[in-house]
Amino acid sequence: MDPVEDTLRRLREAFNSGRTRPAEFRAAQLKSLGHFLQDNKQLLQDALAQDGGLRSAFESEVSEIAISQDEINLALRNLSAWMKDESVTKNLATQLDAAFIRKEPLGLVLIIAPWNYPLNLMLVPLVGALSAGNCVVLKPSEISKSTEKVLAEVLPRYLDPSCFAVVLGGPQETGQLLEHKFDYIFFTGSPRVGKIVMAAAAKHLTPVTLELGGKNPCYVDDDCDPQIVANRVAFFRYFNTGQTCVAPDYVLCSPEMQERLLPALQSAITRFFGDDPQSSPNLGRIISQKQFQRLQGLLGCGRVAVGGQSDESDRYIAPTVLVDVRETEPVMQEEIFGPILPIVNVRGLDEAVDFINRREKPLALYAFSNSNQVVTQVLARTSSGAFCGNDGFMHMTLTSLPFGGVGASGMGRYHGKFSFDTFSHHRACLLRCAGMEKVNDLRYPPYTDMKVQLLSWSLSQSCSLL
Ligand code: NAD
Repeated sequence: MDPVEDTLRRLREAFNSGRTRPAEFRAAQLKSLGHFLQDNKQLLQDALAQDGGLRSAFESEVSEIAISQDEINLALRNLSAWMKDESVTKNLATQLDAAFIRKEPLGLVLIIAPWNYPLNLMLVPLVGALSAGNCVVLKPSEISKSTEKVLAEVLPRYLDPSCFAVVLGGPQETGQLLEHKFDYIFFTGSPRVGKIVMAAAAKHLTPVTLELGGKNPCYVDDDCDPQIVANRVAFFRYFNTGQTCVAPDYVLCSPEMQERLLPALQSAITRFFGDDPQSSPNLGRIISQKQFQRLQGLLGCGRVAVGGQSDESDRYIAPTVLVDVRETEPVMQEEIFGPILPIVNVRGLDEAVDFINRREKPLALYAFSNSNQVVTQVLARTSSGAFCGNDGFMHMTLTSLPFGGVGASGMGRYHGKFSFDTFSHHRACLLRCAGMEKVNDLRYPPYTDMKVQLLSWSLSQSCSLL
């Protein structure tokens, strides 16, 4: 038998046995996942540094390990509350009954992760899937090889092997995996592969979450302190060497603001990475030769105003700012996913909003202004997965906010309780009382006008008599 088929059969049997349903089982798995992070912190740090091309321990800690641990802690604190049946309002006809929403596990779910935050983007959805009581197949990215190895070799020692499995592979193997039936697929990656995943899921009518990418606009109003904006934009653009799905992808501002921003961006970059960013311990490298060559090509768009250096032998691209870019150039056509920040000139808020709305809805949108009115105008007149005024992706630090895209940037949401809900079926339940049959006479033939009126009235009364 095909080993994947065998694994899936085993996991499905475990789910059908009811093993994953009790709160105690879920909590034990979550705690064990926390132990995996704590016991193997150095191993994980080393793997993440290797995959991230010498990414700093600081970046790996805050964006991968600490975030995953926070999600585990939150789930452990709230598990019983999340699992509780949710009472709903009733009409007069069901006053004596119990009406509630039961959160039940979906079954066997598949989580597919990309390479750019290979631990976070595997474990954070896993926390949701575990909390909701599912059996899980994890498919890490084959490109972040060191983290993939730790996930494949060490993580299974911490989770119940009858309920969880790590399956390895690249596009071909993942394509084969997707031929199998899952009860839910949670995919994080590119829009191109997102379409492949959704098409494969459609064959089984399997619901999906697609956490995709795109170009995140960053509007900078004339009424701003350019140094504050530059610090915040540069930090979030160059974090993880720009390989972040929610990074500000390009700046929209007036030519006057551009003149003020450029020296401020140069100053922020020097402050963060020194005069020679290539030797900075705070800047990682581009994940692969393929990505390096793509990014090097983008350096030829517009005119380099800051940075622009690259070194193929080291897969190094300097933190770069481009100006005079045309909308038709590749840097404005594709998701950049690297340490390059183009600035596009607009004459003001209206033109910026038009520019944004002519494109696909982004995963995140940023607006900087000292004027609250300007920020709220951008918010009100555009759409995106998330919005943050006067900063970069700080919204992601709140597990109370849903994380996910809209339109081409994806569908579905997770983080905190949203993850639990994503991996749960919200089952509509009504437990009627077995007696009081006289009341039901109203709905039985022979039908009369009076019965219709009384029945309609009783169904429309959303009240609580008891
Ligand atoms: P990718 O789409 O190439 O790969 C993601 C996963 O899909 C990997 O596990 C890979 O093995 C698998 N895969 C690749 N090709 C496949 C195919 N033909 N059939 C089936 N599976 C296939 O993405 P990536 O390059 O790893 O990551 C970068 C992309 O992910 C960017 O577009 C970025 O914006 C996006 N991303 C989104 C989020 C988010 O939360 N929305 C987070 C991180 C990255």
